[in-house]
Amino acid sequence: MSTKNEQLFMQARKHIPGGVNSPVRAFAGVGGTPVFMHKASGSKIYDTEDNAYIDYIGSWGPMILGHAHPKVIDAVKKAADDGLSFGTPTPFETTVADKICDLVPSVDMIRMTSSGTEATMSAIRLARGYTGRDNIVKFEGCYHGHSDSLLVKAGSGMLDIGEPTSKGVPTDFAKHTITLPYNDPQAIKDCFEKWGDTIACVIVEPIAGNMNMVIPDQAFHDTLREQCTANGSVLIFDEVMTGFRIGINGAQGHFGIEPDLTCFGKIIGAGLPVGAFGGKREIMEQIAPMGGVYQAGTLSGNPLAMRAGIAMFEDLTVDGFYDELSAKVADLVDGIQAAADKHGIHLRTNKLGGMFGMFFVSDKDAGVPKNFDEVTACDMTAFNTFFHGMLKRGIYLAPSAYEAGFMSIKHSDTDIKDTIDAADEVFAEMA
Ligand SMILES: *Cc1c(COP(=O)(O)O)cnc(C)c1O
Repeated sequence: MSTKNEQLFMQARKHIPGGVNSPVRAFAGVGGTPVFMHKASGSKIYDTEDNAYIDYIGSWGPMILGHAHPKVIDAVKKAADDGLSFGTPTPFETTVADKICDLVPSVDMIRMTSSGTEATMSAIRLARGYTGRDNIVKFEGCYHGHSDSLLVKAGSGMLDIGEPTSKGVPTDFAKHTITLPYNDPQAIKDCFEKWGDTIACVIVEPIAGNMNMVIPDQAFHDTLREQCTANGSVLIFDEVMTGFRIGINGAQGHFGIEPDLTCFGKIIGAGLPVGAFGGKREIMEQIAPMGGVYQAGTLSGNPLAMRAGIAMFEDLTVDGFYDELSAKVADLVDGIQAAADKHGIHLRTNKLGGMFGMFFVSDKDAGVPKNFDEVTACDMTAFNTFFHGMLKRGIYLAPSAYEAGFMSIKHSDTDIKDTIDAADEVFAEMA
């Protein structure tokens, strides 16, 4: 790594804790110095000395049209000329709300926020207000932002009350959060049998993108929907990552499940800070000013974010967009898999729409990981070697074995071939 980059990291650490404004950026999982970037275009991101990297993070998902897409940038420039924020309703918010409700059939009404964290936090408050119950259920390995109730893991006993995963979260909050293993229908049934009439909601990443990429079985979602309906609990799909990423109607379209509430973020703001939660009219009408569940935001529905989102939806809704995107993902993932097989590297992969996962399994007979324990059992040293080998060759992957990969529509055949060639070289070294 260059001296200049080391210096930037040193300077950053002086007044920013760890030198970063979100922990994963610090490379803590993979070691080494994070690369400071200063611009991006299409499939590429550039460090401060203008070295190009083919980027498979895409700002953790939003850059599905590629970085600095001219149409989006133009929309933001025009919006900026008209003023940055008014604190009043604007027609742009209505356009985005109409668009999302039109594309995602389970969403009748929607409220904008400024981040995914606010969306999930507010959806949970709404579910509690609507049901008059306190307990919530989440799953091991799913991430829903950093609000108190959600930074909770399973307690020591199965089906026990939760324990905070972060200092600063009161045990009193954690005791209302029940954490279950992902992709385990029986655990859901057992949980509802024990706690049923106390559960306000279940929140789930319908396809997990925060423990690498894990695609659960249909039975998991069928059981969730069944149990929530039978027990009067609100089913919340956290599609902050998967919404408009794996397809135009998200993971709920893929599984054919109608959640009661859905959270969005990331893609819908095209890279500007945004989140949203929406769902059944009867539930959404409980939010202030219509109902008694309070929720607000000074910059919610910000005109820059809304106009960026409107521009982006124009491209996402073009016929064949997701076919083209998933074909790129298939080319990449299949190419990397073939390279791994050639060198005897035990790689497992997942892919759907514009998203993919890569696992270095420790056991040559292991299948594709299906839950958090199986992800944790992967060979983290192998991942770290792969990550740094790729970075050195100008390929920018997520700096953690617990993150997914993201493709943009701007990744060219050459980008994909260069990435596979780089992987082939790294695997040869690892073999
Ligand atoms: C990113 C993410 C969040 C949090 O969104 P922020 O905008 O970072 O607050 C919540 N849920 C899921 C599934 C996410 O991937």
